Amino acid sequence: MTNSEVMTDPGDCLFCKIAAGEIPADIILSTDSVLAFRDIAPTAPTHALVIPRKHYADADQVAIHEPLLLAEMVRLAGQVAQLDGLVGYRLVSNKGAIAGQSVFHAHLHVLGGRVLHWPAG
Ligand code: 5GP
Ligand code: ZN
Repeated sequence: MTNSEVMTDPGDCLFCKIAAGEIPADIILSTDSVLAFRDIAPTAPTHALVIPRKHYADADQVAIHEPLLLAEMVRLAGQVAQLDGLVGYRLVSNKGAIAGQSVFHAHLHVLGGRVLHWPAG
């Protein structure tokens, strides 16, 4: 097991608790395996998070262990964008604290509703 895999105990994981309904969130869409909800501190008019219900530390781990689950996350992100009427959007996955990851349960940020500059900071 690498350092990137040694992460939060799922029993003490914020996004596992949101997935279980133990912590409230502004849920947008939900399937058996994936959940989309609004970020608590949005950085754009649309700022949603798409997570697998099952705990993985980051998107890499989802891709390695359940690639179809990652595809389902990307699909749901597209549905969120469609629901919010976005003509374009950005998907972001921060891996590791140095890249800005602060919650160590895999998630995609869906950002849109304003001009998004590139390169990202
Ligand atoms: P990261 O920094 O790991 O890429 O993204 C974690 C995101 O989770 C941040 O954008 C942060 O605002 C969001 N977040 C942290 N705590 C909560 C919470 O309790 N509820 C919701 N909806 N979002 C949260
Ligand atoms: Zn978790």
